[in-house]
Amino acid sequence: MRIDIATLFPEMCEAYLSQSIVGRARAKGIFSLFCHQIRDYALDKHRRVDDTPYSERQGMLMQAEPIYRCYQAVEKISSEQTGVKPHVIYMSPKGKTLTQQKCRELSGLSSIFILCGHYEGVDERVLEKIVDEEISIGDYVLTGGELPALVLIDGVVRMLDGVLASADCYQEESHYSGLLEFPQYTRPEVWEGMAVPSVLLSGHHANIEKWRHEKSLEETLKKRPELLEQYPLTEEDIRFLKQLKESDSK
Ligand code: SAM
Repeated sequence: MRIDIATLFPEMCEAYLSQSIVGRARAKGIFSLFCHQIRDYALDKHRRVDDTPYSERQGMLMQAEPIYRCYQAVEKISSEQTGVKPHVIYMSPKGKTLTQQKCRELSGLSSIFILCGHYEGVDERVLEKIVDEEISIGDYVLTGGELPALVLIDGVVRMLDGVLASADCYQEESHYSGLLEFPQYTRPEVWEGMAVPSVLLSGHHANIEKWRHEKSLEETLKKRPELLEQYPLTEEDIRFLKQLKESDSK
């Protein structure tokens, strides 16, 4: 997979994407990533990329032309390398909220171009011209698209083969199946008088599997009950949840 980021703050993106699990995956060549400075594509010698909005609103907007020139230059190189046109994402509070499902879908693409806005946003015309989809990381407004782009990239690349120890690492985590993850414990067996559930020490795989599934249902019911409406519950799950609700109401 190839990822290109168009931003006014490439150093900010580089700093995060060179570290830890994501940085190691990048160094191993599991994906390639390039941060592009939109100012390098400005038309004037002051490298200006913003101007005042026609709507008489306060603040500045990013101009269409430098972004378009940046996209055209990157698109050419990226298409030559990957054989496909990059999927263009604009990080925007107006977009659809990022989900695990979306990260999974994007992890199957060979090339993504991410546009990070700044100031009051971006001239609409360049969005109309190049953007395939707008993605938000939540219903609030940040100063720029860099953090949202990093959130998206982190969520996407950890699902690429070879980034985590195995696919189980993310498939058993919250949201992948539609449920939240079961509670996790590590050594010592007893901490501050609280013991690790005995079933986890039993070595009985079937019982541990059953415990994990029931605890996932319980966590989801407790913390994000609305997720259960979308989850394909079995008859046994429904019985288990009913018992939980009854014991809670006693
Ligand atoms: N004026 C815009 C509006 O009201 O929709 C907000 C512009 S915001 C201050 C500047 C940039 O930050 C946006 O162009 C976008 O790239 C990014 N941004 C801000 N909040 C975001 C969010 N929740 N998700 C994704 N990107 C966001």
